[in-house]
Amino acid sequence: MPSESESNNVIILGSGCAGLTAAIYTARANLNPLVIEGVLPGGQLTTTSEVENFPGFPEGIDGFMLMDNLRKQATRFGARFVSDVITSVELTPGNNTLRSENASYPAKALIVATGASPRMLGVPGEKEMYGGKGVTTCATCDGAFYRDRDVAVIGGGDSACEEALFLTRFCSKVYLVHRRDELRASKIMADRVLSNPKIEMVWNSTVQSINPDDQGFVSSLTTLDKTTGKSRQITLQGVFIAIGHIPNSSAFKGQLPLDDEGYFIPESHSQVRTAKAGVFVAGDCADHHYRQAITAAGMGCQAAIETERWLSTQG
Ligand code: NAP
Repeated sequence: MPSESESNNVIILGSGCAGLTAAIYTARANLNPLVIEGVLPGGQLTTTSEVENFPGFPEGIDGFMLMDNLRKQATRFGARFVSDVITSVELTPGNNTLRSENASYPAKALIVATGASPRMLGVPGEKEMYGGKGVTTCATCDGAFYRDRDVAVIGGGDSACEEALFLTRFCSKVYLVHRRDELRASKIMADRVLSNPKIEMVWNSTVQSINPDDQGFVSSLTTLDKTTGKSRQITLQGVFIAIGHIPNSSAFKGQLPLDDEGYFIPESHSQVRTAKAGVFVAGDCADHHYRQAITAAGMGCQAAIETERWLSTQG
């Protein structure tokens, strides 16, 4: 396992689309990157059954396979991998240190690509049917699998509205389940949702459980109307949870600028540069707007090129 004694030109923290793309680019630039994979090697995409919108795969590609391919591509050019969970960091330009429970990793440059985790409801059935059995957190990724089906979106923000509107392209009916009687989303999004004949609002309601059929696939949703105290069972085949994301940035609190939600705030003139020289951010931990595999990969590429340029100025 790499340790204090080993000096690294660049460490990439995270092995999702952003991290692995940064690894491919920095490895091809002969920077011998070390990728620290966390608890979910390959990131969020490894939990998606099929990815149909990553350019270059006309038949689609299994999420796990896509990430495995990116990893092999990075390895081919010399990227090194270690599995560890970083709990604290010390950022000093040109001399950064990342620490886990049992090891510490020094690096001249650092690319933070730690991703974001979808906030989940924590109700019965959610975990069991997540990723391929009817519970998902990404309409752009999975919506097309629900053609002519009934689905529900949970949440009342812009993401939930965007997901619901997107799903109306495929689905027969979209229930939007929100815990209050007013959407949090921007007025324009809310108006679009409220005027869409395919969307039925389920107001003031929380999800009690997501219920499986005999094969373990989603077959219904039980909601509780807080104003009437009545439960309702809605027959459907898909549940899209859109109640926000939690960026994986806690180890950097106090070291790099974070917004109120914990997303990294890049320098104004760049998507990937941070307030600390030689420290770059990429992917969902720094992007709450697009959150796509291909945009994360693009940011990983940008961060790698910035890293290469910055290192070349460091003598
Ligand atoms: P968000 O604005 O934080 O909304 C989260 C929604 O989920 C809220 O309606 C919230 O309910 C609900 N919620 C949270 N926890 C819940 C729980 N445990 N159970 C049930 N409901 C729960 O998150 P977001 O929609 O992902 O948006 C994040 C940011 O990205 C926002 O700034 C948004 O404007 C932006 N965004 C913009 C666009 C766009 O402009 N096209 C698209 C997507 C996102 P309450 O309302 O009751 O709190």
